[in-house]
Amino acid sequence: MFSYLLYVLALGVIGTGLIQKKKHRPKYKIIGFRDEVSIEETEGILSNHGIKIKKHLPLANACLCLVDEISAGFKSLTANDNIEFIEDDYIAMIQVIPQTADSLKIKSQTIPWGISKIEAPKAWKHCQGEGIKVGIIDTGIDQRHPDLKANIKVAHSVVEGTGADDDNGHGTHVAGTIAALDNDIGVVGVAPKAEIYSVKAFDNKGRGRVSDIIDALNWCIENKVHIINMSFGFSVNSQALERAIREVHKHNIIMVAAAGNSGGKDTVLYPAKYPEVIAVAASDNKDKAADFSSSGPEVNIIAPGVDISSTYINQEYRLLSGTSMACPHVVGACALLMSISGADADNVKNAVLSTARDIGLPEETQGVGLVDVSAAVSNIKKTKGGFFYE
Ligand code: CA
Repeated sequence: MFSYLLYVLALGVIGTGLIQKKKHRPKYKIIGFRDEVSIEETEGILSNHGIKIKKHLPLANACLCLVDEISAGFKSLTANDNIEFIEDDYIAMIQVIPQTADSLKIKSQTIPWGISKIEAPKAWKHCQGEGIKVGIIDTGIDQRHPDLKANIKVAHSVVEGTGADDDNGHGTHVAGTIAALDNDIGVVGVAPKAEIYSVKAFDNKGRGRVSDIIDALNWCIENKVHIINMSFGFSVNSQALERAIREVHKHNIIMVAAAGNSGGKDTVLYPAKYPEVIAVAASDNKDKAADFSSSGPEVNIIAPGVDISSTYINQEYRLLSGTSMACPHVVGACALLMSISGADADNVKNAVLSTARDIGLPEETQGVGLVDVSAAVSNIKKTKGGFFYE
């Protein structure tokens, strides 16, 4: 009887402990301020409510804070007129289909099917993407890869406690589709002389926090990149990310994102879903849509995304599939066009979208159609004239 009482008492103590622990676990929140509130003012407001800032997110006029939701300070903050939104620090995922692919053995340089399919090699006699800075927000990059190294201008990480190296493989694969070198080994990218600005915002499991993605977008602006590759997505509309995307757009930077690997109808993920971002669906080598490819009215264009060979970590090459693989084909196409023509972001974007090839799929699946570099070059020649190397 006595031991039973002790047992009940012990359960009670453990139970209370668990409840208390759960109640008081602090959580990261993004606190967004009204446009007219300055950074100095946000510091004052948060400090008055006893909330410490983990980091500023100036692109979203917001702060990342570790908060205790049941504290009096946080509760009173939610009623403050200067606050526009408070949201979780959501997690986005890279858009690759999980698979256990072996390393590819490539004897001499082979042009991947997707690069030929979008007619990129026809443009190479004019130019190969020289002078165009491409920001890649991803899992990092293999900085020692012999088929990428010469094009990597900067490799940076915004993930706390992690270097710029790729510990997943995804970022290195995406980078290769954009700008693997035209040499005698491995693969070749759409724009083999474009400059790679790699910024790691995703961990080894392919997860990236909105706060880190916003940091990475800010880094892209500071480094004056021309185009940003975003082979990731998630289904929540983060107000902080939406604000940041609008700011990047004001800087005349082309943003391209993976439509998503959710399949089905009306399944386009953010950030591809935002109007400022080109949403890319995935096709196979027979011009059919990949069954995993998200669809919906926000899909802008379709590009190769099934069994794509590209560079991989440990100086290897691999086949991967996903709208993550389609996205960099469009980024590479934009880089080639911008380099060839000297045209600005809007003209390049219009040329790529207006010349895509209709492959007979529903508009919600293919957008305007399959990206066609050769047709886009002819188009921009007509409108811009004079800029060419011919
Ligand atoms: Ca190569």
